[in-house]
Amino acid sequence: MSVEKDLETVEWDVGEEGHITVDNSECVDCEEKPCLHLCPAQCFDYQEEREGGIYFSYEHCIECGSCMVFCANDPDRGAVSWTKPDGGKGVEYDLG
Ligand code: SF4
Ligand code: SF4
Repeated sequence: MSVEKDLETVEWDVGEEGHITVDNSECVDCEEKPCLHLCPAQCFDYQEEREGGIYFSYEHCIECGSCMVFCANDPDRGAVSWTKPDGGKGVEYDLG
Protein backbone atom coordinates (compact mmCIF):
# COMPACT_ATOMS: atom_id res chain seq x y z
CA MET A 1 0.00 0.00 0.00
CA SER A 2 1.34 3.45 -0.89
CA VAL A 3 1.71 6.32 1.58
CA GLU A 4 -0.99 8.14 -0.35
CA LYS A 5 -3.37 5.20 0.16
CA ASP A 6 -2.44 4.97 3.84
CA LEU A 7 -3.24 8.66 4.30
CA GLU A 8 -6.73 8.05 2.97
CA THR A 9 -7.40 5.93 6.06
CA VAL A 10 -6.59 8.58 8.67
CA GLU A 11 -8.55 11.59 9.87
CA TRP A 12 -7.58 14.75 11.70
CA ASP A 13 -9.15 16.75 14.50
CA VAL A 14 -7.16 19.86 13.74
CA GLY A 15 -6.25 22.07 16.67
CA GLU A 16 -6.21 25.83 16.48
CA GLU A 17 -2.54 26.03 17.40
CA GLY A 18 0.15 24.38 15.34
CA HIS A 19 2.02 21.69 17.32
CA ILE A 20 5.03 22.06 15.04
CA THR A 21 6.60 25.36 14.10
CA VAL A 22 9.38 26.15 11.67
CA ASP A 23 11.90 28.94 12.18
CA ASN A 24 12.41 29.94 8.57
CA SER A 25 15.60 31.82 9.34
CA GLU A 26 17.23 28.41 9.95
CA CYS A 27 16.16 27.26 6.47
CA VAL A 28 18.18 29.89 4.63
CA ASP A 29 21.45 27.92 4.83
CA CYS A 30 19.84 24.49 4.49
CA GLU A 31 20.70 23.63 0.91
CA GLU A 32 19.38 20.06 0.72
CA LYS A 33 16.00 20.83 2.30
CA PRO A 34 15.24 17.18 3.18
CA CYS A 35 11.85 18.19 4.58
CA LEU A 36 10.56 18.57 1.03
CA HIS A 37 11.21 14.88 0.38
CA LEU A 38 11.04 13.11 3.74
CA CYS A 39 7.80 14.31 5.31
CA PRO A 40 5.31 11.58 4.36
CA ALA A 41 2.37 13.97 4.72
CA GLN A 42 4.00 16.66 2.55
CA CYS A 43 3.58 19.33 5.20
CA PHE A 44 6.61 21.20 3.84
CA ASP A 45 6.27 23.06 0.56
CA TYR A 46 8.77 25.11 -1.42
CA GLN A 47 7.73 28.73 -1.93
CA GLU A 48 10.50 30.90 -3.32
CA GLU A 49 9.15 34.13 -1.88
CA ARG A 50 9.32 32.88 1.73
CA GLU A 51 12.41 33.24 3.89
CA GLY A 52 14.39 30.05 3.44
CA GLY A 53 11.96 28.93 0.76
CA ILE A 54 9.79 26.89 3.11
CA TYR A 55 6.08 27.04 3.80
CA PHE A 56 4.94 24.68 6.56
CA SER A 57 1.37 23.57 7.31
CA TYR A 58 0.67 21.43 10.38
CA GLU A 59 -2.93 20.47 9.64
CA HIS A 60 -2.25 17.11 7.95
CA CYS A 61 0.76 16.10 10.01
CA ILE A 62 0.62 12.40 10.93
CA GLU A 63 2.94 12.88 13.94
CA CYS A 64 5.50 10.43 12.59
CA GLY A 65 8.37 12.32 14.22
CA SER A 66 10.61 12.18 11.14
CA CYS A 67 11.19 15.93 11.11
CA MET A 68 12.61 15.68 14.63
CA VAL A 69 15.34 13.47 13.17
CA PHE A 70 16.09 15.19 9.88
CA CYS A 71 15.69 18.76 11.18
CA ALA A 72 15.02 19.42 14.88
CA ASN A 73 17.79 17.13 16.16
CA ASP A 74 20.19 17.73 13.28
CA PRO A 75 22.90 20.17 14.45
CA ASP A 76 23.16 21.61 10.93
CA ARG A 77 19.46 22.45 10.74
CA GLY A 78 17.17 22.88 13.77
CA ALA A 79 14.36 24.90 12.25
CA VAL A 80 11.62 22.58 13.52
CA SER A 81 10.17 22.78 17.05
CA TRP A 82 8.01 19.80 17.89
CA THR A 83 5.34 19.14 20.51
CA LYS A 84 2.30 16.88 20.68
CA PRO A 85 -1.02 18.50 19.71
CA ASP A 86 -3.07 19.86 22.62
CA GLY A 87 -5.95 17.95 24.17
CA GLY A 88 -6.18 14.91 21.92
CA LYS A 89 -6.20 16.96 18.75
CA GLY A 90 -4.30 15.94 15.67
CA VAL A 91 -4.22 12.79 13.63
CA GLU A 92 -6.67 9.96 14.36
CA TYR A 93 -5.72 6.44 13.29
CA ASP A 94 -8.36 3.79 12.71
CA LEU A 95 -6.59 0.69 13.97
CA GLY A 96 -9.59 -1.56 13.41
S1 SF4 B 1 15.07 20.53 6.75
FE1 SF4 B 1 14.58 22.01 8.38
S2 SF4 B 1 16.13 23.66 8.13
FE2 SF4 B 1 16.07 22.48 6.21
S3 SF4 B 1 14.65 23.60 4.91
FE3 SF4 B 1 13.49 21.96 5.94
S4 SF4 B 1 12.62 22.93 7.79
FE4 SF4 B 1 14.27 24.26 7.02
S1 SF4 C 1 5.90 14.75 12.23
FE1 SF4 C 1 6.03 13.62 10.27
S2 SF4 C 1 4.18 14.15 9.17
FE2 SF4 C 1 4.42 15.67 10.79
S3 SF4 C 1 5.50 17.38 9.81
FE3 SF4 C 1 7.04 16.04 10.77
S4 SF4 C 1 7.70 14.63 9.15
FE4 SF4 C 1 5.76 15.57 8.49
